[in-house]
Amino acid sequence: MTRRRLAIARLWYEGNSFTPVTTDLAIFQAREWVSGSAAMDFYRGTATEIGAAVAFAEAQADWDCQFLRCTAAPPGGQVTPEAFAAIRAEILDGIAAGQKDKPWDAVYLSLHGAMVVEGNPTPELDLLRDLRRLIGSVPLGVSFDLHAHLAPEMLDLIDIAAGYKTYPHIDMDATAALVLAALASMADGRLTPRHAIAKLPAILPSFNMRSTDGPMAELQQRAKTWRSWTGMVDVSIFGGFAYGDSPFAGPSIIATTDDDAELAQAAVDDLMTALAERRERFYVHLPDSHAGLIAALASGGDRPAAVIDPADNPLSGGIGDTPALFRALLELRPNVPCVFGFFWDPDLVARCWQAGIGARISAQLGGRVTADFGPPVAIEAEILKLTDGQFRNLGRTVMLDINGIKVIITESCQTPNDPGYFALHGIDLGQIGLLCVKAKNHFRAAFTPLTRCIVEIDAPGPASPNIRRYRYRYAPQNLYPLTAD
Ligand SMILES: [Zn+2]
Repeated sequence: MTRRRLAIARLWYEGNSFTPVTTDLAIFQAREWVSGSAAMDFYRGTATEIGAAVAFAEAQADWDCQFLRCTAAPPGGQVTPEAFAAIRAEILDGIAAGQKDKPWDAVYLSLHGAMVVEGNPTPELDLLRDLRRLIGSVPLGVSFDLHAHLAPEMLDLIDIAAGYKTYPHIDMDATAALVLAALASMADGRLTPRHAIAKLPAILPSFNMRSTDGPMAELQQRAKTWRSWTGMVDVSIFGGFAYGDSPFAGPSIIATTDDDAELAQAAVDDLMTALAERRERFYVHLPDSHAGLIAALASGGDRPAAVIDPADNPLSGGIGDTPALFRALLELRPNVPCVFGFFWDPDLVARCWQAGIGARISAQLGGRVTADFGPPVAIEAEILKLTDGQFRNLGRTVMLDINGIKVIITESCQTPNDPGYFALHGIDLGQIGLLCVKAKNHFRAAFTPLTRCIVEIDAPGPASPNIRRYRYRYAPQNLYPLTAD
């Protein structure tokens, strides 16, 4: 028997449309940029989609798997059109070259589903259209992030589509494995996929999308029951990415069955009703900077209180630059040791390295990348510490003393969600009364046991829980809460 041929490619990126910083090809190339046997070595044994594809390739002797361009970049702003064009061309050229002599038997693509490109709100749909045009009726399977923006137009182009069931995401590999197994069944003629999709006309912030508890956990439990039906291939719930401005913005539910359109529709209808009933529970109402600081300081206990500013969390498209929380902290100047992490300002880091420890400087903090979220704060500071950032490739960093508040400035824009970040600056968290950090959910993992409370605030920034702060250009204007019901 001749071996069947599977093409594998990946373009995974979550884009924040409200961040002024763009993502170019170099950022993809620095993070994940492999193909061929190098891709197999890069992902083998990892709990990622392509890790699952490598496991499939090595376990399925009757499949010849070709790893085409596989790339991803950390969450950020819009991708440049040049970067998208280059990646799109690489994937499509790889597909075309591989089918010159004989068609592929299946194609697997690992997408995120919430990519945004400058001037192009539908890059993933465009790529899927090109791909479908190239491969004709060859089975196409795609895995997506739970925060993807799915649409009927996309599903029409895909045979097998599935998304992660967990957030934090711990089933990327399982999702890909499901798609690959279904693709293999389809190529063998053992599966005839039928889909249904439904969308809720709303934009949901991801604050309450945890799959461990809360409304998303309840929905995932219900979806799991649907997945146990005979003939059901997959049921996936997508929350959407609130800061990705897309014509397909908002949550969606898809079901795939083996030749049973009615079952797929029943699952999607039931889950959409359950989602609509829970809609309000996805919205959170957080205190502003000042109120959040007061609440944190009022909490009793000997460990530090933490105030986190999710609107400028780099893992959600934050830019390490919004000034509101720092301005409130400076005005309040609590009578306890305070640490603020962080501002992204490479020029200030360079200036401080030149001036040296102990020197006094004047500077502007925040509002450097953009003044859209508030003007810079003028400060006078003493340089307390310089580090080479030899921790997760932070680049050089500086710690300033500003009216008794220790403030960290960095050359790169990364979330301080690891205690090692503060240890690097010689900070003993046991001696700190108040910790203010640009971070979100991931911060809790390491810091819940180290702090007496974690207070989230709502300040202006590219990733605020308050959806009404943003002006969407491409998302339908009838989406809740942009307009009332
Ligand atoms: Zn996600």
